[in-house]
Amino acid sequence: MAGMKELANRVKELEDQLVVCIRCGMCQSVCPLFDRTHKEADVARGKLALLDGLGKNLFNNPDGVSERLDRCLLCGSCAANCPSGVNVVEIFIKARAILAEFKGLSSTKKLIFRKMLANPATFDQLSEWAGKFQGLFTKKEKNSQGTSCARVVSPLLSNRHFMAMSDNPFRNTSHVINTSARKSGLKAAFFTGCLIDKIFPQIGRDLIEVFEHHGVGTYIPKGQGCCGIPALAAGDMKSFEKLVEYHIELFYAEKFDYLVTACATCTSTIKKLWPSIYKGRASKTREKIRELSKKTLDINQFLVNKVRLLGNYEGAWQSGELSEIVTYHDPCHLKKSLGVFREPRTLIRASGNSLVEMDGADRCCGMGGSFNIYHYGLSSEIGQIKRGNIADTNCSTVATGCPACMLQISDMLARSGLEIKVRHPLELYAESLRRTEYLKRA
Ligand code: SF4
Ligand code: SF4
Repeated sequence: MAGMKELANRVKELEDQLVVCIRCGMCQSVCPLFDRTHKEADVARGKLALLDGLGKNLFNNPDGVSERLDRCLLCGSCAANCPSGVNVVEIFIKARAILAEFKGLSSTKKLIFRKMLANPATFDQLSEWAGKFQGLFTKKEKNSQGTSCARVVSPLLSNRHFMAMSDNPFRNTSHVINTSARKSGLKAAFFTGCLIDKIFPQIGRDLIEVFEHHGVGTYIPKGQGCCGIPALAAGDMKSFEKLVEYHIELFYAEKFDYLVTACATCTSTIKKLWPSIYKGRASKTREKIRELSKKTLDINQFLVNKVRLLGNYEGAWQSGELSEIVTYHDPCHLKKSLGVFREPRTLIRASGNSLVEMDGADRCCGMGGSFNIYHYGLSSEIGQIKRGNIADTNCSTVATGCPACMLQISDMLARSGLEIKVRHPLELYAESLRRTEYLKRA
């Protein structure tokens, strides 16, 4: 645990970053939380003002500061709209870590993050057991989203419609995959991420198929775990660092051109938060993180900009004959954090579907990781606005590049009884390749 002197230094560093905020309030108009509550304490400006006195508030009212800081989706909408370039998400995350160090983590969080999440093998084993027994407490629903709901009233699940654990997680797909670059001339490593491994394994299997089709060499090491964002967002720097250093060694075992993920949150965490947390530290790990984060790309970016799939695409679906109406939701961690928004749309069009834009495609869906757990009412209010915008397009499918957004949107659509499918753009593209192959053989 950090001593008081070190904590004081970290508070000072944070205060240096806070002076950049000019209190203009431009973050108000884009904050999904402020849009619902109209409380200054919920918007970035209000929270930054609170942190301005962190040195004092830390001792006087650490629980109050924590409570206010936790009421945030970490969506980065404020930072993307800030004229002064305040790195709001990084400041909030660092402040949460300081508070967690000062107050100590609760025993529940210690159990979840340090004993489970930070130990990939244990986490996999526990999720496998949870998958086996989930049917006792939850039941599958008959809807387009494929959600489940609780059999009995449960405070944890509430009235959620959630995606169940897969009975065939991605990690069971094969042993280590390690193939050489072929016609694309590229080799990419795949960082799977927890949600794709445990809930949406089809996305990972589609990635293997698409790489095979385009002749991309693939490296998928066994034993992967979480990118660390849940621990970091809760202020548990120890578990976060353990996961970062574990993955750095895992991926440094092989040479490849790009590290690709199909999860917007994993991409943003590896590309931005891994290096920013290690910034200023003199260590070999820091240099390795810097190199790896530079090579990290979202799957849509990789396929469109590096594989240049449109050049290879044979176009059997471009007749539009069998196309669906698809709308696209921009995950905050892709558009606001990384500026990626054209490429997923290109992938959807390349799969032969008609893309129809919804209003507020880049408005947050309300998920926000643990925000959805602790503030489900507010998360749902924000999510229902997204649900309405999706429904207004009359689409049959909504695509999005983040599995966490897929969970939230599935919940919102299922609660409203809307028969709209929720898919990753990669799934649509892989499906179009399969159909093209089928047509060619027919
Ligand atoms: S965070 Fe940025 S947008 Fe918000 S008040 Fe400060 S300077 Fe203005
Ligand atoms: S990160 Fe999102 S929810 Fe949090 S203050 Fe900024 S805009 Fe509001």
